[in-house]
Order: sequence, then C-alpha cells, then structure tokens
Amino acid sequence: MSKVGTGRGVDRNPGGTASQDAVGVGSRRAGILREIGLAPIWKLRLSTLGDRPPARPEAGAAPSVLAGSDDVRSAAIAAMDWDALRASVASCAACELCRARKQTVVGVGDESPDWLFVGEGPGAEEDERGEPFVGQAGKLLDAMLSAIGLQRGRKVYIANTVKCRPPGNRTPTPAETAACWPYLERQIALLRPTLIVALGKPAAQTLLQKEVKVGEARGRLFDHRGIPLIVTYHPAYLLRTLPDKAKAWEDLCFARTTLRELLKRA
Ligand code: URA
Ligand code: SF4
Repeated sequence: MSKVGTGRGVDRNPGGTASQDAVGVGSRRAGILREIGLAPIWKLRLSTLGDRPPARPEAGAAPSVLAGSDDVRSAAIAAMDWDALRASVASCAACELCRARKQTVVGVGDESPDWLFVGEGPGAEEDERGEPFVGQAGKLLDAMLSAIGLQRGRKVYIANTVKCRPPGNRTPTPAETAACWPYLERQIALLRPTLIVALGKPAAQTLLQKEVKVGEARGRLFDHRGIPLIVTYHPAYLLRTLPDKAKAWEDLCFARTTLRELLKRA
C-alpha cells in the first residue's frame, strides 16, 4: 500500500470490530455508524494511541538524529495547550515554508466544534491576514457552509494541513506536510470535533495517510482516530470546475446527515 506524508498505514475495515476501534468516544461512534448503516468505515492502523504518528526520517537524512529530534518535537507539540501551540506555530522554522511566509495561519473558529474543515495551506490573502480561507476560495467555502446552515466560528473550526503559505500556492511537499502534521494532530486532539471534512486531495491524504482520489473517496465515511471523516472537493478546485459543485453539494448533504445522526445518538 502506498503511503504519503508521515507514512502511517490504513486498513479498510468494512465491518469494524470492537478490538480494532479507537477507545472511548471513537468506539461508541463507530458502533453508531455501523448501526445507522454508514459503514464501511476506513480505520487508521494505530501502533499506539498517542497523538502523533511515528517519526519518519526523510530519505537521505541521518535517520537516528532526525528521528530523535522529530520525536522530541512531536511529543512537545502533543502536550501543548492552545496558547503554547499558537506561539510554537508563530515561531516555527521546521520546514522550508517558514522562509517566504508573512505570517503563520493556525486556524480559526469555535474551539469546541462539531465540524472541522481542513484545507491545504494558506494562499496570498491568508498569508496577509493570518486567517484561513479569506480569499476567493474562502468566499465559496463560506457560501458552502451557509448552504448547510453553518457559519464560520459557530460550531465550526477551519484549519489547514500546513500553517505557512507555499510560494506561488503550490501544493505542499510531503516533507512540509509531515513537518506540520504534529500541529494539525494537536489541533484535532484539542478540538475533538464530531466530524472532520477534508477539503481536497492534500488534506484527505494527510489525514488518512494514504493516496486518495477525491472522486473515489467522496460519499464514503472514513475514520481519523475515532473521528468520522468525509472527503469532498476543495473550494478552489470547485471555482475552476463548476460541474463538480453539484457533487460537493451532495457531499455536504451527506456530511450534514452524518453529523445530525452522530449528535442525535451520541
Ligand atoms: N486554500 C486552502 O486550502 N486554505 C486556505 O486557507 C485558503 C485557500
Ligand atoms: Fe512550521 Fe508548519 Fe510553517 Fe513548516 S508550514 S514552518 S512546519 S508552521
């Protein structure tokens, strides 16, 4: 199985079993989802239930040194509260993206959300303003939220896979995504959202740690460490590909129904 980013494996687990479920809430949700017929659920194969993936040295790097320092950094991030996390991101120089950024973009919204939307990385306007999805794609995202009765900041948190703008809005490299992953993982652990929506392929691949085609992944329910996860198109892609807007609408309806069921039965 091919892997991306920090390289954790993913198992397809159509039926799911109690022993394979993440503990606590995750396990209860998995049961609920099976009950309401929203399986198959895809599950991460976890070696431990910690907040972070195992460190993976980049090819060509001195493995033990890099693995060791990655591990220490990841462990420190996994223990941070919001203030420490924001301060750490603001001064982070763990990947190349620190060089060209004007400012970091941590995320925005309700810190006890039902919904977590995860995009790719800040663009020019986000880099200027320090808030995710405030440019053209952000306007469409706001419209999409409003179409399902949601509003930025109200039970909704918005984040990105990388916190610094990739120059020219290019896709972040696997090394950059891996370097920023502990921050997103910590955000998810602090937020404990009821449902995650991955916007586009890079976000989906980062969260699921496998290669993903949005066209194939949409309409299915995945699992990110006990939290249900749905994949849909990135708003910037939808701006370029209008016919797929109808599919995104279907995905949002699916997400809304799923969330309602989760809240009702939790
Ligand atoms: N695209 C993203 O993925 N994230 C943003 O914050 C803005 C545009
Ligand atoms: Fe640090 Fe993430 Fe910015 Fe890279 S993208 S410098 S890991 S905050």
